[in-house]
Amino acid sequence: MNLFEMAKIPLNKAIEVMKLDPSAADIIATPERTLEVSIPVRMDDGTTKVFTGYRSQHSTIMGPAKGGVRYHPGVNMDEVKTLAFWMTCKCAVAGLPYGGGKGGIVVDPSKLSERELEGLTRGFIDRIAPIIGEKMDIPAPDMNTNAKIMGWMMDEFSKIKGQFEPGFVTGKPICLGGSLGRNAATGRGVMVAAGEAIKALGIKPKQATCAVQGFGNVGSWTAKLIHDMGVKIVALSDINGAIHNPKGMNPYDVEKHLQKTGSVVGYKGSKPISNEELLAMDVTILAPCAMELQLTKANAAKVQAKVIVEGANGPTTPDADKILDKKGILVVPDILANGGGVTVSYFEWVQNLYRYFWTEEEVIEKQESLMIDAFKKVYDTAKEHKVNMRTAAYIVALGHLAEAMKYRGMY
Ligand code: GLU
Repeated sequence: MNLFEMAKIPLNKAIEVMKLDPSAADIIATPERTLEVSIPVRMDDGTTKVFTGYRSQHSTIMGPAKGGVRYHPGVNMDEVKTLAFWMTCKCAVAGLPYGGGKGGIVVDPSKLSERELEGLTRGFIDRIAPIIGEKMDIPAPDMNTNAKIMGWMMDEFSKIKGQFEPGFVTGKPICLGGSLGRNAATGRGVMVAAGEAIKALGIKPKQATCAVQGFGNVGSWTAKLIHDMGVKIVALSDINGAIHNPKGMNPYDVEKHLQKTGSVVGYKGSKPISNEELLAMDVTILAPCAMELQLTKANAAKVQAKVIVEGANGPTTPDADKILDKKGILVVPDILANGGGVTVSYFEWVQNLYRYFWTEEEVIEKQESLMIDAFKKVYDTAKEHKVNMRTAAYIVALGHLAEAMKYRGMY
């Protein structure tokens, strides 16, 4: 089964529970358009290499398509389409006036020089320029992309248009119209979701422990902010391996270690463990913040966490979901838990359209209140329909999408 087919399993469950009109269900189940592009880049050694990129716009029902661009060797059209679909649902759960999109380039960016990376980024924007824009489709960072890359995107698109175009991309450097609070936003959202989830179970942060898989933008901020909440961070990981310390670790300090040595592994007082051991750790909160398909039929039965908050997109397979449900684990799904990034992207876009900027406190306050509301809505929907939070999140998303489609006259 491909990833998109797998992603539709919880959607179909929600469609069934809601008894959604089949025409509306068909529209949601099919991406609006996906563009595949080739990007020739002049390399430092004088040769030209051709890279493949994609931009998928799953839906523009609620507004312009919105979603990040990832640089990864494993990027493919199926994955990009699936991630775009998740963006549609994520934006609808958060109540943002956006559809969903996603882009990607098949590349290992660590193998490129800075100049080659810039050439690749500009070439990608040149190719997808006909279908993007602040009212059409708004890119952002995702795996292995960052504010600097968003700055190049903005510059390239502004050149193509012959005018300043800050609103066409989010996650930019602050001096180019980026928003305060955007860098930490996805992790902050995961922290809020984790906080609300343990509160619902009657557990205080001080009594809780947490394991975070992944130490990129999402994982590192998740660990730092959950630590700030008073929860003990007992396990962390990155692409090189995982570490454990039952006494707790300070993720700010771990980050310094990573900056010095290139990995979280070897951090003082910690013991190396495997990724599988991290996922199976006896903790209150498990936050998978790395890649898709981490919790599967093969390892879900070993999970001991009380709460799983999905910082990554699609870390849990439908088979694993069934097992986690049976074990009574509260899973806060990706389309709710990691919506903090796109929520602050929305604030960035609003600030760009107004040319008026907010303080970091204003951004954080607006983000947290929006996410607490979204959590509550999904939690209450789960109780009302006696379904898990993933199905409930899809019910909330589909409710908004179906209403908008109806008034647009689509079915
Ligand atoms: N890439 C992030 C995500 O998967 C953020 C997208 C955005 O800000 O548009 O949610």
